Amino acid sequence: SLTIGIVGLPNVGKSTMFNALTRNNVLAENYPFATIEPNTGVVPLPDDRLPVLAELVHTEKIVPATVTFVDIAGIVKGASQGEGLGNKFLANIREADAICEVVRAFDDDDIVHVNGHVDPADDVDTINTELILADLQTIEGALPKLEKDLRGGKITAGHLDAVGRARTILESGETIDHAAAEGRIDKTELADLHLMTAKPFIYVFNVDDSQLTDDGLKARLSESVAPAPAIFLNAQFESDLTDLDEADAREMLQDAGLAESGLDQLARVGFDVLGLQTFLTAGPKEVRAWQIHQGWTAPQAAGVIHTDFEKGFIKAEVVSYDDFVAAKGSMAAIKEQGRLRLEGRDYVMQPGDIVEFRFNV
Ligand code: GDP
Repeated sequence: SLTIGIVGLPNVGKSTMFNALTRNNVLAENYPFATIEPNTGVVPLPDDRLPVLAELVHTEKIVPATVTFVDIAGIVKGASQGEGLGNKFLANIREADAICEVVRAFDDDDIVHVNGHVDPADDVDTINTELILADLQTIEGALPKLEKDLRGGKITAGHLDAVGRARTILESGETIDHAAAEGRIDKTELADLHLMTAKPFIYVFNVDDSQLTDDGLKARLSESVAPAPAIFLNAQFESDLTDLDEADAREMLQDAGLAESGLDQLARVGFDVLGLQTFLTAGPKEVRAWQIHQGWTAPQAAGVIHTDFEKGFIKAEVVSYDDFVAAKGSMAAIKEQGRLRLEGRDYVMQPGDIVEFRFNV
């Protein structure tokens, strides 16, 4: 399954956040390199629709979609040259499908900052520079073969040109993800190179409570990484939240004036940047959110439930979540109102689809 690698300088709150994500109490230590082994955490994708459906179809069983996070060892200046845990770090990050960069914005004199002072923009620069340098090494290493392939007619001049433009972008200190989001390069032309900065980025700013309500600060930080998504959370607060039962956690969120936890936001944004979406099934056995890629067709979606469903696909019976809820889950009413759609092989799945597949065995 697709994974999101959590990266950042040491002591910015990565372990605190990761442990809260997984409710897994691995000790967060106040010194660099506390998180040496990469850890994997599978967290549920928050989805308020599932309990609503479960009540309508009278089932206790809810199966949410999931998002997988990998906690990657802290990066330091020089990582691209093998400093610190550099090589291990780079190998782990290459395996991830998206990058969640945790950046410290909170001030706390008791917690050492590796650069001696808290400066979020500077930290983003430090990390991205290491990734950019590593990508430049990848390109330098690939160029001789690409030039040979061009002479041999195996690739087009356009392909080599795209690699050259990628190099120029990286040399200017910009990530490929950023340039691609602004339409200045097409990631698909670079797919073979597996560049790290071509992965989608999410920035998590670890803030304290007063910063969490400082709209000016948040706007400035968002701006500094846009159009990549930025999330603001207090890792310590999120960690405290996960120690509580659901009702108490909700109350604590409300008291803090928050509509949802930062970790729930992160799971949703992460799922989205991975290019994933869900469709729903609802029956007396279970209510379930199934994970598919954005743009997948009905037979591809059917194949996620069972390969036989894809092979023998006939059609999909689809009702939207809103129509299903409006009809209080009554299929008779849904049919009577003409709200049940029969979709064929070419149908592209839409968010909110509740589906039953018809297939030949
Ligand atoms: P990592 O090295 O990035 O994994 O950082 P850790 O999660 O180990 O955190 C380093 C130290 O900062 C620990 O002592 C944490 O308790 C503390 N810390 C983490 N998040 C916060 C936060 O939001 N506010 C404050 N004040 N301290 C935090």
